[in-house]
Amino acid sequence: MTPPNTSYSALLLIAGTLGLFVAILILQTRRAATGALALIILLLALAWWDITYGIFWAGAPGPTKYFWLDITYVGAVSVPAALFIFTLHLTNQQDWLKRPLAAFIYIEPVLVLAALFTDPYHGLFFAGKRVENSALILDAGPVFWLNVAYSYSLIFFSTFLIVRAYLRSSGIYRKQIGIILAGVAFTWLNSIIFVLGLNPLPGADNTPFSFTVTALTFAFAVSRYHLLDLIPVARDSLIEKMADGVLVIDPQNRIVDMNPAAQNLLNINTNLLGQSVEQALRKWSQYQKDSPDFIQLQTEIELGGRPKKHVDMQITPILDGKGKKLLGRLIILHDISKLKRVQSELHHLANSDSLTGAINRGHFMELAAGEIERAVRYKRKLSLVLMDLDVFKKINDTHGHASGDQALITLKEMCTQGIRPMDIFARLGGEEFALLMPETPQKKAAFLAERLRARIEATTIKTDTSAFKVTISMGVTEFGSRDSDSLEGLLHRADRALYKAKAKGRNKVVIWDARMG
Ligand code: GH3
Ligand code: MG
Ligand code: MG
Repeated sequence: MTPPNTSYSALLLIAGTLGLFVAILILQTRRAATGALALIILLLALAWWDITYGIFWAGAPGPTKYFWLDITYVGAVSVPAALFIFTLHLTNQQDWLKRPLAAFIYIEPVLVLAALFTDPYHGLFFAGKRVENSALILDAGPVFWLNVAYSYSLIFFSTFLIVRAYLRSSGIYRKQIGIILAGVAFTWLNSIIFVLGLNPLPGADNTPFSFTVTALTFAFAVSRYHLLDLIPVARDSLIEKMADGVLVIDPQNRIVDMNPAAQNLLNINTNLLGQSVEQALRKWSQYQKDSPDFIQLQTEIELGGRPKKHVDMQITPILDGKGKKLLGRLIILHDISKLKRVQSELHHLANSDSLTGAINRGHFMELAAGEIERAVRYKRKLSLVLMDLDVFKKINDTHGHASGDQALITLKEMCTQGIRPMDIFARLGGEEFALLMPETPQKKAAFLAERLRARIEATTIKTDTSAFKVTISMGVTEFGSRDSDSLEGLLHRADRALYKAKAKGRNKVVIWDARMG
């Protein structure tokens, strides 16, 4: 086939016009999308290539002998570069374009065109082997072949990036990239047809055609799925900027990926990629032991450092597409230190008395029930001392309510300082307190209570406005003093003994006995 060939020319002109039209459409509707500019340039370059090549095939006269054929190269040399830049955006590798070397992508087409248009002076492009009216160059100079090699390398690399992105993607992304991949595949199919000599238009270069189909496919994917709007939020940058720590390990428990948040949480400042996960999570084998099948694990862990960090750790297996083979594990670390702090503050607030900070009645009852259970199980003694400040109403009346409060606070401090770590001291309400003494028979409890009573009696309570003394009455009893004893029974007996202490003139410690009821 040699020019002029009207039908081939018409096909090229239609393809070129279509490319031009779609380029304008994208410019108008999808201009803001990432990579849209590269796609528009790709479409324009192809339109140029198609249209000038179409004019050449129409046999139109030009100002010089090879004019129409020569200017097709303006489009042809720009196509691989535009395709490559579009691919970098598509696969979220646009950072690559910031490298100094990347300038070559833009410069190369200019250099090649310069060589082409100055060819009559050096012959580096056509090597003087140009055959009139032939559209295909099969024998040419070094610059021509270098450009061919370079262009195919770019196309090959772009294809590689797209295939890789396709394999890594899932769900809707996979569909989108699948369309792009089909577009690229078409170009390769065309090249194969050409190399095998199966070209339906022998003597004509069908590359501009196939590329136009490819670019139109891209344009379809871009407008159909708004693909390029989603790409910037791609996995990489998302994980990099995530507040949660993300670690990915392979089946041999080696770290393959780790984001800055994970490094921060785990207090790591060296590169641990490729190293055992135990370098980052020292208790890894423990987690494996704790979770029998170790398929999925969610647990709270404590990390060193000051202050200590509490982290919610979630380990999820990464399986292959069929869900059978383990490819690795994803570890997500969520910092819950703040939550833990608030939780413990709430716990404290719910269980303590706001004036003195002592354990409140509700929490005391819980703790006491636990202690009774233990005493029964291990057949140990357990004593309870109930305390009530003497004539406290009068203290309030004489020195003021604030002084009364100060007396309660001082009393709590004296009591908690004077007891053993296992003893439980609580404010049951008003000016009434309880002291539960595990592992202690009532005699010993009464002895310790007496010591406390004496210290309180000897203490002067000082406030800004006054100084005064208080005394306290105490009732003591031990668990098991009656058959089928209970916490209620224990409290009742201690109360009876306390009543007796008051009746006997206050400022006394009295041990319960059966006559008190
Ligand atoms: P006694 O126990 O020796 O028989 O006499 P009392 O005056 O202590 O008797 P009562 O139990 O009737 O009075 C308790 C008083 O304790 C009444 C109340 O005003 C006072 N009180 C209770 N809670 C507080 C408190 O939080 N702050 C102050 N300042 N006083 C309190
Ligand atoms: Mg009282
Ligand atoms: Mg009272």
